[in-house]
Amino acid sequence: MRRLFASDLHLRPERPDLTGAFLHFLRETASGADELYLLGDIFEAWIGDDAPMPGLDDVYGALAHLSASGTRLYFQHGNRDFLVGEALMARIGGELLPEAFCIEHPAGPILLMHGDQLCTDDAEYLAFRNQVRDANWQRQFLAQSVEQRMAIARQLREASKARGMEKSDEIMDVNPQAVREAMLDAGVEQLIHGHTHRPAVHRNQLGDGSGIRIVLGDWDRRGWYLELDDSGFELIDFPIE
Ligand code: MN
Repeated sequence: MRRLFASDLHLRPERPDLTGAFLHFLRETASGADELYLLGDIFEAWIGDDAPMPGLDDVYGALAHLSASGTRLYFQHGNRDFLVGEALMARIGGELLPEAFCIEHPAGPILLMHGDQLCTDDAEYLAFRNQVRDANWQRQFLAQSVEQRMAIARQLREASKARGMEKSDEIMDVNPQAVREAMLDAGVEQLIHGHTHRPAVHRNQLGDGSGIRIVLGDWDRRGWYLELDDSGFELIDFPIE
């Protein structure tokens, strides 16, 4: 079974190079894979499925094409695209996963997360996360007009910038104890996450010789993905022109 994982593309109209790189990845790399896991922050922002990010129609089309040709497509929320919903999943033929999800593998189960929930040293961010992941908050937000939602999203961004929080959620690394707890809770010795923009393979996360944590990279000057088959994994990067 051939599985691919990517996160933190931060697709946006201002970076057509990222969109182009992702379209190329879907066509040349993901095509024919059994499963593609998108582990959050694929989109720089998301204010609701009824107002999808403009300029990305080719991406939605390419994802729909990929899933229609037999690659199962899974999506986990990031801290920027947490409002991606079932309408987008229906459009691209994808399935939304919960914020912590385990997949089976011959080497043992693997836990998948975006990773922002592991950054427990940033109390201010966790409070914000609790607010915007609350079902009532989301219902009220989504009930507003597109213009109102864009204004609120702008306000939230500016408030976070004013507190010096903008980007700090991504600059801050995971808390090692939070990593251990998440892995022990899930009963896994392997974890894949993104969010921190610090691509790496960390070993010994649960003590000597046990616990692998694979961190996906963000897409900027280079793109990153993880390829996993039954025999092992490879974290791969490539230049983005
Ligand atoms: Mn993130």
